[in-house]
Amino acid sequence: MTTLDPAFREELSTLYRDLDAEIRKLGPVCELSGRCCRFHEYGHTLFLSEPEALVLVNEAPKPSRPLDDGETCPWQDNAGRCTAREARPMGCRVYYCDPNYADHAPELSETFIKRLKSLADRFDLPWNYAPLHRHLRALQDVFERERDLP
Ligand code: SF4
Repeated sequence: MTTLDPAFREELSTLYRDLDAEIRKLGPVCELSGRCCRFHEYGHTLFLSEPEALVLVNEAPKPSRPLDDGETCPWQDNAGRCTAREARPMGCRVYYCDPNYADHAPELSETFIKRLKSLADRFDLPWNYAPLHRHLRALQDVFERERDLP
């Protein structure tokens, strides 16, 4: 599977908008250190579902760096910013290193992962919740095609 039903994509956008709105209410602070996207340095693994991985590789702009072995995210630019904001998965949206917010993340994740799982089930899509780099290796052809875009 390398493409998604547009109706699923629309519902996923609504879900992401709802999650972003809940997070805005809590007002976490991001100091743009970019550490959370340098996975090995930060001791962090980004998990996401297969449909979200497809959205990321199909819709995000050309990656900023080559695919490594899981040390960093290919969509983090040299200034530490995310270049895949619109297509980024739930795990990127919900995570902030702000200690005043950290306690809220697990509950928000649980609520929205349940909603996402039920959406994927409704569209009969594989769940395959796995680390980012496992998805990117499996989708290497699509990922490489996106890299070659002008
Ligand atoms: S998609 Fe963006 S926010 Fe998510 S890990 Fe990559 S650079 Fe960071």
